[in-house]
Amino acid sequence: MSKTIIAANRLPVKIVNDTGEFKLHTSEGGLATGLGSIYKSKDNVWIGWPGLEVEGEEQQQKITEELREQNLLPVFLDKDEITRFYEGFSNEVLWPVFHYYASTYAHYEQQNWECYKEVNQKFCDQILKIAQPGDMVWVHDYQLLLLPKMIRDAQRDISIGFFLHIPFPSHEMFRLIPWRKQLLEGMLGADLIGFHTFDDVRHFLSSVTRVLALQTSANVITNNRRVVVAESFPMGIDDKKYASLATDAAVKKEVAAICKTFNRQKLILSIDRLDYSKGILQRLRAFEQLLISHPELLTHITFYMIVVPSRDQVAQYKELRDQIDKKVGNINARYRTLEWSPIQYFYRSFPIETLSALYSAADVCLVTPMRDGMNLVSKEYVASRVNNDGVLILSEMAGASKELIDAIIVNPNNEYEVSEAMFVALNMPLAEQKRRMTLMRNNVGKFNIGHWVKIFKERLDEVKQMQRSLL
Ligand code: UDP
Repeated sequence: MSKTIIAANRLPVKIVNDTGEFKLHTSEGGLATGLGSIYKSKDNVWIGWPGLEVEGEEQQQKITEELREQNLLPVFLDKDEITRFYEGFSNEVLWPVFHYYASTYAHYEQQNWECYKEVNQKFCDQILKIAQPGDMVWVHDYQLLLLPKMIRDAQRDISIGFFLHIPFPSHEMFRLIPWRKQLLEGMLGADLIGFHTFDDVRHFLSSVTRVLALQTSANVITNNRRVVVAESFPMGIDDKKYASLATDAAVKKEVAAICKTFNRQKLILSIDRLDYSKGILQRLRAFEQLLISHPELLTHITFYMIVVPSRDQVAQYKELRDQIDKKVGNINARYRTLEWSPIQYFYRSFPIETLSALYSAADVCLVTPMRDGMNLVSKEYVASRVNNDGVLILSEMAGASKELIDAIIVNPNNEYEVSEAMFVALNMPLAEQKRRMTLMRNNVGKFNIGHWVKIFKERLDEVKQMQRSLL
């Protein structure tokens, strides 16, 4: 009986160190939910880093045993590996270059690259301990670009799928990376390579032909006489979970409390992790422009802005956080009255019930990243709008904009356009809101996370059959 092995940088559980005692918390992330039906069944396994440093073999052994009961297999990383593989290479080379921030944020360090290879090999070694001929391995994201080839070289008779959750940049960006060739070769160890959008596929194919001089025909690449398929699979969310949360009694109570606090003001909501790719400062400037262009809105609207802490030990992220603090402070100081503040800013994370209440309460959801692989917040807002009202403003640089075409689509660099989009959204007639939201809800409901998992797996099976027929 063949099994499925999922490999991702993080395991779908959080391990927290509660004063010396390690405790497991299940993760509610989209990927964990979507792949839950796979890794929890039969002999299937999810392999990944538990998210924190665990010192001492005895502790590691204990955690490994606990995780095994949940079909999880840990790859432990030490401090140096966390610094070099995760922060140094994944987050200071791949993340900025793939999000088009190469010149501002990328640091190319040979030692970090060496460590990236070593950690990918560590994942491979764990996989090879359990992989049998005929198994399927599904590798996820930019931290593990070398893993498909490493597995393929050791075990040819295996199906390997790879999915990239962030954008794949144009060749002109990608070619800047000193190790571009090895990265592409690593990915091409897979049989099927998935991206969120067709543009990502195009960029990948263009890099493959230019950097490796390989032959491609449509979306099929011939690599060492083995065919590899690159295709787009836009990731969805668990739409039913968000729809049912929206009608949950406790959530409704929170919605009522929010509405009472803000009286008859209209709410604009944004939710992001702290990251330069999310366009948070530009969004704040657009909001200020709205107040300048439409002073009649003063005291009638509130911008509810949630920024989830992320990587804020890294200098550039800390600087971004300081700039956001300053900009929010300036706007509030300038426009507030004794009873009203234009921006309610939170630098923290919230439980899913509170997020759901905010999605339900918000008249407008403002999602304006400079670059985003998909953006799940936009889909969660749509899934939560069970009355079919509300307006989504969405950056054309987010993968989700290719599907949610009934949002108000904006260029996030055009602050004036974003501010006017807010004005249009705040004044949109209900019938028009419903028309757009119904279409978007159909899309989010049909192409949900279950559908994403299903079609990726089916396509991988088809690719394997195609390879056999070409032998
Ligand atoms: N999120 C969360 N806690 C919060 C705020 C957000 O878990 O306090 C979740 C949100 O529901 C969404 C995810 O974080 O599922 C963000 O995903 P997205 O694709 O929008 O951006 P990413 O952070 O992956 O770049």
